[in-house]
Amino acid sequence: MKIEILEKNDTNLRIIVREADVPLMNALRRIALAEVPTMAIEEVVMIENSSILQDEIIAHRLGLTPLKTDLDEYNLPEDCECKSEFGCPQCRVTLTLDAEAKEGTRTVYSGEIVSENPEIIPVSDKIPIIKLAKNQKLKLEAYARLGKGKTHAKWQPVSMCAYKYFPKITLPVEKCEECSKCADICPKKVLEFKDEKVDVRDLLACNLCMDCVDACPKKPSPLTIEWEKNAFIMSIESTGALPPERILQEATKTLGKQLNEIEELLKAESQ
Ligand SMILES: [Zn+2]
Repeated sequence: MKIEILEKNDTNLRIIVREADVPLMNALRRIALAEVPTMAIEEVVMIENSSILQDEIIAHRLGLTPLKTDLDEYNLPEDCECKSEFGCPQCRVTLTLDAEAKEGTRTVYSGEIVSENPEIIPVSDKIPIIKLAKNQKLKLEAYARLGKGKTHAKWQPVSMCAYKYFPKITLPVEKCEECSKCADICPKKVLEFKDEKVDVRDLLACNLCMDCVDACPKKPSPLTIEWEKNAFIMSIESTGALPPERILQEATKTLGKQLNEIEELLKAESQ
């Protein structure tokens, strides 16, 4: 297998994976979505709420606020040694919010949430939590825990994780004189028309929609779009909870763990 990184930053990772197949790519995609743990607020103790929103709506909004996650520091509640419903410092982070509108109507943002661990904080401090009118108050304590996307989408580490086939474009050999229909129709501007010839401008942008082939007046079209059977472009967009490359690493680790488990079970059964 071969991997080539196309783009990598704090939230996005785009890679080309060669010599792989669909079941593997899909397993990684599904594990990244559903099995890689992240931190999210799970319980809220409301101390004072004189806003117009009910407690449960505020709790829901807090739950969906992505938190920066430290997978090496915290245990999943079900794996933690404390075995306590309330959790312990190894499986729970306490956050507080104490906001009041003294001067007039104002918006309370995620940046006002105070965490006991400065590493486990909202990924952005600009997420609106609630709007308070003058003299309204919101005071609460919240507990964040690790969880998995298969239980609730708030624990999903990715806002997008997808793969597509690597495109393969064969250009017409002869000149196309007046016609540039294929280049004009492409929604992704993959093709360009230069000196009466069609050329590829951005191969990786191609989403195999075939509009260019359909637009060609020549039938069969000398322009063909195919895809490589064993090469894929994978894109991961993190919510900010974990770096995208860590999400992929954790997904491969989880897949390995699950395969090992099957191997162990098979060994035990055949003895
Ligand atoms: Zn614990």
